[in-house]
This record gives sequence, C-alpha cells and structure tokens, in this order.
Amino acid sequence: MTTTPTPGFTTADAAELYQVPNWSGGWFRVSDKGQLEATTSPGLHVPLRAIVDEIVDRGESLPVILRFPQVLAGRVKHLNEVFGQAIAEYGYTRHYQGVFPIKVNQRRAVVETVASAGYDYAHGLEAGSKAELALCLAQRMHPDALLCCNGFKDDGFIKLALWGRTLGKNVVITIEKFSELDRILKQAKALGVRPAIGVRFKLHARGSGQWEESGGDQAKFGLNAYELLRVVERLKEEGMIDSLVMLHTHIGSQITDIRRVKVAVREATQTYAGLIAAGAELKYLNVGGGLGVDYDGSKTTFYASMNYTVKEYAADVVYTIQETCKARGVPEPIIISESGRALTAHHAVLILPVIDVTGPTRNLEDQELVAPAEDSHQLIKDMHEIVQNISMRNYREMYNDAVGDKQTLHDLFDLGYVTLQDRARGEALFNAILRKISKLIQSEKYVPDELEDLQKVLADKYICNFSLFQSLPDNWAIQALFPIVPLDRLNQKPTRQATLVDITCDSDGKIEKFIDLRDVKATLPLHEPGKQPYYLGVFLMGAYQDVLGSSHNLFGKVSEAHVTVRPGGRFNIDLFVRGQKARRMIESMGYEEPMLRDSIEDQADAALKVGTLTPGQEHELLEDYGEELLGYTYLEYEES
Ligand SMILES: *Cc1c(COP(=O)(O)O)cnc(C)c1O
Repeated sequence: MTTTPTPGFTTADAAELYQVPNWSGGWFRVSDKGQLEATTSPGLHVPLRAIVDEIVDRGESLPVILRFPQVLAGRVKHLNEVFGQAIAEYGYTRHYQGVFPIKVNQRRAVVETVASAGYDYAHGLEAGSKAELALCLAQRMHPDALLCCNGFKDDGFIKLALWGRTLGKNVVITIEKFSELDRILKQAKALGVRPAIGVRFKLHARGSGQWEESGGDQAKFGLNAYELLRVVERLKEEGMIDSLVMLHTHIGSQITDIRRVKVAVREATQTYAGLIAAGAELKYLNVGGGLGVDYDGSKTTFYASMNYTVKEYAADVVYTIQETCKARGVPEPIIISESGRALTAHHAVLILPVIDVTGPTRNLEDQELVAPAEDSHQLIKDMHEIVQNISMRNYREMYNDAVGDKQTLHDLFDLGYVTLQDRARGEALFNAILRKISKLIQSEKYVPDELEDLQKVLADKYICNFSLFQSLPDNWAIQALFPIVPLDRLNQKPTRQATLVDITCDSDGKIEKFIDLRDVKATLPLHEPGKQPYYLGVFLMGAYQDVLGSSHNLFGKVSEAHVTVRPGGRFNIDLFVRGQKARRMIESMGYEEPMLRDSIEDQADAALKVGTLTPGQEHELLEDYGEELLGYTYLEYEES
C-alpha cells in the first residue's frame, strides 16, 4: 500500500513526533516510505505492516504480538559484549556472566532464545519458584552457566535444585531468609549432594524510580549483616565454607539513575570484601537486575526512562567492583547480573487494529449549524451564537461559557423544562464549539499546558481491539508508558489527537498517557482512519506484560507470530501461535465444555417443543455456539 505524502511533512518529522530514534535502541525505524520497520541488524529491515498483512491474508485474527527472536538474541549479545569490552578495557581479571530471571517472561520462545543466544557467553537462568525451576532445569545450558534459585523455598524447591547439580547444571541456591540455610544443609545431607549456596544481602542502598522500595532495610528479601556473618560461621562449622559461592544483591527494577547503581555496587563489593575477610571463598558477585529501559526516550531519571546506556552500566559496574576490590585488597569476583527487562522489552510489539473512532468533535455532524427555530430554548440560541462568534482571541472564554450552558441544559432537562429535541440540539452545538476550538488550537504551534485538559476533552477515542488488562497490565497498574506508533502513513501529518480505549467492559480499559520528552502527554497524534485498516504498534512491551496479563472479561492470550527478518525486506513467520480460545478461558473458571454444550442443547430442545425454534434453527444455533467456543476471544470482523 502506498500513501500520498502530506506536503511539508516528512518521515523525519514523523520519527521525531513519535520519538522513534530515542526509544527504539536502533531496533525500529521510520522508512522513507513512511512505514514503521523492524531492524534486526544493519541492512535487515521489514515493514511491520507487511507482516500484519501476511497474517491477515492467512486468515488469522488480530490483535497479535509480533516477536522478533533476532532482536532478543541481539540484546543478549549486546549486554554480554559491552561487559566484555569494559572488562578488557579496565583489565579486570575475571569475566562476566549474565543470568536471565525468567519471571520477566517465561514464554517458551523467549526462554529458549535467551538460552541459545546466551550459550556461548554462558548466560544462565534464574528461577524464583518451583515451577520456574522445573522449567529451567529442562533447558540446554552451557556447563558453566548459572542456574540461580531465588525466592522463598520449601524442601521440594531445595531438593529439585540439588538434583539439578547432579545433572551437571551449575545450580546455586540463594538464601533469601536465614532459616533457609538449615533447610538446605538438611536436604543436602539427606540427598548426599554438595550444594552451591548464594546469599542475598539487604543493601541499605536503594534503587530509584518505581521499584525503590525493593531495596533498603525494609526490603522483603535478603539477610542483614549479622545474619550474613552467621551464615559464614555456620558453614565453617559444618566444614562447608566452600559451598558459599555467591553474594547476591538486587535493588529493584528499572533503576532510572546510574548513580544509584554505582552506590549499590560499591556497597555490595564492600560486603563481598567483608565476607572474604571473614573467611568466605566467594567466586561470584551478583549485582542483580534493575538495568532500565528508556520507554519514553528522554534519557532522564523520569520513571519511564534512564539516564545511562547499557554500555555505561557495564562500564560502571566493572569499574566500581574493580576499584573497591583494589582498595580492599581482595581478589576480583566473577561478575553476575540478572537483567530481565533490558533483555526482553524490545523484542515484542503488540499490534492493535483500530476498529472505530468516537469523540465529541465528530458525531452529529449535520445538525449543529442549522439556525435554531424561533421557539427553541434560549440556551440553544445562546450556544448557537457562541458557535458563530468563536475566534482565536476569545475561545477560552467561549469554551467556559459553553460548558456552563451545557450544564444548565442538562439541569433543566432533568427538571422537565428542556425537550429531548433541544437537548440533542444543545449537545450537537456544544460539540460544534469543541470542533471549532480544536481547529483553532491545531493551527497554534504550541498548546499551553493549561489547555491540556481541553485537549483531552476534545480528543477522539480510538477504539482498539484488545484488552489492556491482558496485554498491557502495567499501564493500568503502575502507569507504565509504552511508545505507540501507527504502522504506516508516517509520511502523512496526523490530524487527530486521540486517546485509546480497549474492548473490555471496564472503564479503566483505556490509555490516556503517552510518552513525551518533557513529561507525559494526554493525547496521541493519529491519522484519520480511512478505508484501509489502521494499525497501531505498542512497542517495548516484551518485559513482564505477557506474563502479568489477566483474563478480565475472559479476553485471553493474544496470538503471536515469531518473525525472522531476511535480506531484501523479506521475512519468515517461523511460528504462529493462536491466542486462547473462548473455551479455554471459560474452562479456566471451573466450567467444562460438555456441561456448557449440554445446557444449551437442553434449552434448545425445550424451545423446539414450545415452538420458539425450528429444527433448522436449532441446528444452526448449536453450530454457532460451538464455533464461538472454539473462536478467538477478541472481536473478529470480516474485512469488507
Ligand atoms: C525481578 C528480578 C530481576 C529482574 O529485574 P529487571 O529489572 O527486570 O532486570 C532480577 N533479580 C531479581 C532477584 C529479581 O527479583
């Protein structure tokens, strides 16, 4: 599909408007043709629209998540290489090994891609529960790669971890609370397996941003200094001090300020040195997760951003550990980090079809400018006057008058003094006023912040075929921001300001906060949808969203396409995983399919008897019902 460019608006303008270069990390770009493209390595790019068209042509339904394993693998490689570079540059004497905490995204495609892309770097995995450990144990891993077991543990968890060691896996059990030490020692004796133990320390340093509370003295996990020393003593008594191999710290996710990283790493290294001095023989220093993602591209300490790059992170971690070890005269440890968000966020894009647009400035088009009849209510005449006289100079005042008039109109309607017809006219006039103001503001270059509310009132609602609760739960729960960009028409100037709403019956199912370089924007500039389908991409959603999503209104998991980009703008859909069927969602609530079908059949038989159904209709009804049970939970429109 080609689109006619808007004169005076370039694809560079679109890239800037949606800030694509700022947040994309080089993995996405706006093409000269005005399409949003995935760039999996230099010279390899494909328009997302082409992939979506192919999926639709195959008869699959939207929404869909596009996954780019090449991007995921690229992130794994990048993290390991920047650490490798920093180590070489500073002459650090030992190496770096990453660990992927699978809670960030346990989907098979993600874990397997990270494991295989990380194989040569001995990049490991981190499990935080028994189920996650069971999953990790089944992965093919480099023999040196770590399998860290975090989270609170029972005997079953510990046994599984110990068995992992007998399978040749480098499993380390992290003590999160003091009493776990006894449990580990007991199980290790019972099984006759020598454990490798890590110990999590509660740093007094804290992160920055939304997860600040994960660190500090009040943190949920970890031992204090006294408990840490007790672990060392106890292991010495048992003649097992060589089992203590790792010191582990983690100050929370999405650390926005690099200074917090440095402070925490210094404290962690001092603690490491203290443990060495106390007789421990630690091999690994684990600095945890927290490496951020610049969702809004502002490169600031704003909660949706970060003021450093992955490369700077690696350099600062290596340098701080090295300096502190030098000062304390202790051997340098193997450096471990547990980045999850930073590895996975970029690889997934949620594709949202816009299915309709509503808004105060677009409905009831034909009525508003007809001169009010003689016998119309005075309010109607007043509002009509406002429409006529509104201008750049007076629109704020006129807007306030109109809001007052509309309020009065509704009050009088409630009391029976205004007819339904006049109410309809009044509302149409109000919308006409909004539309005029919207046009006036559009020609202004810069809309003052105080008018943002007005902009929100004027905004269109773009109804998108998705559930916020299933696909972008962090937007709802913690106001997380994700870049949202139309997949094409990026050579045309967007003429509408919009907020997005989903198809759940929950009024929270909406997106009204968008990325901005300075703060957060209340509306997103979008194109007027035409006859062609109009698709939005939600980017950087590969971390946490897939797995935290909930089935509000029984909207289930979204379909996924795993896409490999090939030379020459070509691509392969290696795998298409259909989203959850209605039946699966209903069954997850404790119902069983035969029970549902039996009930419908019984009711249909009864209806047949009383004559509200014909035998032909009954057959059709049962067929339609069965089809919906097997269908996608999202709206499925036949393309006209
Ligand atoms: C969640 C978690 C991580 C992952 O943090 P990111 O910010 O996603 O990198 C790492 N380590 C531990 C202990 C965690 O709980």
